Amino acid sequence: TLAAFQPEAVMHFAASALVGESMENPSKYFRNNIGHGLNLLDAMIATGRKQLVFSSTCAIFGPPERLPIDETLPPRPINPYGESKLAFEKILRWYGEIHGLRFVALRYFNAAGASENFGEEHRIETHLIPNVLKVALGLMPHVEIYGTDYDTPDGTCIRDYIHILDLAHAHILALKAPKSELYNLGTGGGSSVREVIECCRRVTGHKIPVVEKPRRAGDPPRLIAASEKIQRELGWRPQFQSLEAIIESAWKWRQKFPNGYGD
Ligand code: UDP
Repeated sequence: TLAAFQPEAVMHFAASALVGESMENPSKYFRNNIGHGLNLLDAMIATGRKQLVFSSTCAIFGPPERLPIDETLPPRPINPYGESKLAFEKILRWYGEIHGLRFVALRYFNAAGASENFGEEHRIETHLIPNVLKVALGLMPHVEIYGTDYDTPDGTCIRDYIHILDLAHAHILALKAPKSELYNLGTGGGSSVREVIECCRRVTGHKIPVVEKPRRAGDPPRLIAASEKIQRELGWRPQFQSLEAIIESAWKWRQKFPNGYGD
């Protein structure tokens, strides 16, 4: 395909991307995210394609020494998913040095929200916002909270939710990056699991019952991005600053497509 189409650049999104699953089946994560990713890189080199935008993740960090997380903090993943993405970032550096590959790795924090026609729906949904919205739609009786004893103000994990359109815009800007770089990508706001559920209650008007469960293995307590580097260097600015606006867009999409991408 690369030889036939000769694209100017490649955007590599494909991956296994579930923290919980990676703690049960690490082999799948190392094989798919590293091994199969290498197939793509080698095909790029073989066909003379030299520019890549790579979907990396905040899961490379693990519990950070300080917040928000900027690019100078040492990556210390606490799950095989984060480890596999970090390994691939390192591989990119060597392909850069040896084969002249130019890359931008975008470390997404928690991708969320929807455009008019595209939203979040996985077969076997594990993500927080789509699960909460399924409850609001009456497709699930309650949402589970994984862990209420974290060292956070309300005991639940804190994440930085970023709208998919803001992420998409960062990819366009990354194509114009003058040199290989790694960028953290979030809004800089932190929302706990309970805050997300409360916000979904406001947006949907549903009372959204919850059931408190034990912690999910591999979850860092707090992940919040410092995105000043990509703002400064590539001029990126998030348009969706509030969790409410992000959830509103997801809810609108979900109401328009109650079966997601199904029939
Ligand atoms: N979570 C939860 N209930 C769910 C799904 C997720 O309590 O049904 C929690 C999860 O433990 C994590 C946060 O919500 O602390 C965000 O999880 P998600 O899977 O959406 O994204 P991740 O941060 O793992 O990429």
